[in-house]
Amino acid sequence: MLDLFSIFSKGGIVLWCFQSTSEIFTPSVNALIRSVILQERSGNNTFGHAALTLQYKLDNEFELVFVVAYQRILQLAYVDKLLSDVQREFRDKYKNELAAGDSAGGAANLDFTATFHRLLKECEHWAKTQAKIPKQMRSFEDSLKSKKTVASMIERKGEDKGKKSVKIVETAAACNGRAAEAGAGAGGAADDDDVIAASRARLASKLAARGKKEPKAAKSPKSPAAAERKQPRVWALGGAPRDAAGLDYGAPGDDAEAGAARGDLQLVGQMAGDIRELEVEDEAEAEAGAAAGGVFSYFKGLVGSRGLTQADMAPALERLRDHLISKNVAADIANKLCDSVAASLDGKVLGTFESVWSSVRAALTAALLQILRPRRRLDVLRDALHARQQRRPYVITFCGVNGVGKSTNLAKICFWLVENGLSVLVAACDTFRAGAVEQLRTHVRRLNALHPPAGPAGAARVALYEKGYGKDAASIAAEAIRAAAAAGTDVVLVDTAGRMQDNEPLMRALAKLITVNQPDLVLFVGEALVGNEAVDQLVRFNQALADHGGANPRCIDGIVLTKFDTIDDKVGAAISMTYLTGQPIVFVGTGQTYRDLKALNARAVVNALMK
Ligand code: GDP
Repeated sequence: MLDLFSIFSKGGIVLWCFQSTSEIFTPSVNALIRSVILQERSGNNTFGHAALTLQYKLDNEFELVFVVAYQRILQLAYVDKLLSDVQREFRDKYKNELAAGDSAGGAANLDFTATFHRLLKECEHWAKTQAKIPKQMRSFEDSLKSKKTVASMIERKGEDKGKKSVKIVETAAACNGRAAEAGAGAGGAADDDDVIAASRARLASKLAARGKKEPKAAKSPKSPAAAERKQPRVWALGGAPRDAAGLDYGAPGDDAEAGAARGDLQLVGQMAGDIRELEVEDEAEAEAGAAAGGVFSYFKGLVGSRGLTQADMAPALERLRDHLISKNVAADIANKLCDSVAASLDGKVLGTFESVWSSVRAALTAALLQILRPRRRLDVLRDALHARQQRRPYVITFCGVNGVGKSTNLAKICFWLVENGLSVLVAACDTFRAGAVEQLRTHVRRLNALHPPAGPAGAARVALYEKGYGKDAASIAAEAIRAAAAAGTDVVLVDTAGRMQDNEPLMRALAKLITVNQPDLVLFVGEALVGNEAVDQLVRFNQALADHGGANPRCIDGIVLTKFDTIDDKVGAAISMTYLTGQPIVFVGTGQTYRDLKALNARAVVNALMK
């Protein structure tokens, strides 16, 4: 049985509601709105909160949210259908009010209860009849195997051979057999099917033959090509890394490390001064790209000899909005950007394509600059030099979930600081993940190999403060800061353990580390690769620090957005992060060398958005 069905606008006004119990559902619905709808998180439309399951459907045209809540232990097969049916009927019934925006004011007057109960009854009846229909066996065409292509079954170099290859042979053979049957049953399949079946047979026999010839492929000596390929890094527990030979600059006679050192040496001197901005694509190239299929093409039709009206622009703005959303820009930010473009074009006479292009572009750039402009200025280099004048270390804490690039980007920032003449102490406060300390130790060795101490008695530019694993991270950070102050080190970079934003004990521990040590800067590290998931992490880290940080909590001061090189033009998450928290993106990670650290450039973001 349903507990709640609610229809509300994205602005938060409840238009109609049905409740079958007197339970208070507000916290659950609020949680859904906060964690899913406002974050624009895609995925399935189900959300669990307390003992409830909530399912929702969005109506983008009228900006409506339809939410159903029921007890988690129940399995209601008709909920999806009910949501769709209710959405359709509600829209049909009240489309005039919705279009005119009257529904919000007259919320109490929307009499939808009778329609809802009729639809609910129909859906319940539908679910019963569905349950009675005996389950049919799936035909081959319906099965997932029939959808497999030859390409999806080809074993790629570097993949685990052995077990997997056996599976592939089976799958290929099975598919081959069944495809042939299906083809015969159909009285001669289409040519494509024959080609696929023949290719599958060839692949199956090839793989079977390979399996016989090389029963223990994994143990056979490596081919020269395989030897050249990058091997996965293995971090040892305690002591030197297991593959230290490949990482330790200091180890004498170590060719791999020496080779890497020679490569890295080219980086020395390239990061002096402020962090360089993300490169902006050539203006003409960007324009050509946008004209070919991007934003500009939507606005072409606006060239004319009379002043533009909102009605003229509406279709183009709608397409612009969808376009921005496709680049991971959250819907309310997309609306804001579209409003800025509309405001700047309203009443204008745009006689040429160029004038349309430059007006749209200028409006988007101005709006984005406003969003990306930080609430407060953040100049790490200047602040670190200022701290040095005060004879105290400048402390930066890095936090984020696992694998986002905290240690790697900490090392890049360290390289940049050293390039600017500062000495650094890296505090290994990830006392949890096996290999975390060794990873930092290797970076410290590399960094010192690139910037050796001045003179034989000179101190190393980068040092590591480590106390192994399992200890209290907050105390290690405190000891490291004291040690840095005693040694006159300029900057302390505190690496922390990766943690999920909803892990309360770990978030408490992070809040403690920050509260106890009061770093100058708390940087949240998030990967651009995961889009709006990174936005969610950031918002929830911030919230957790606020919740657990005591009377005077310290929250996130800035963002390191990593793996920016992997996202092509889906730059929306970068905008949402700043928009939602007001905190600046201080560094952007653009690759895996020490030089791949950039500052965000609004023009580069605009170009990516307009493609
Ligand atoms: P941590 O668990 O957060 O400390 O993550 P790591 O620093 O160990 O990084 C995880 C992986 O992400 C490593 O393979 C890094 O080389 C990679 N990585 C980090 N930053 C970047 C970046 O800006 N671009 C790319 N392409 N990879 C990155």
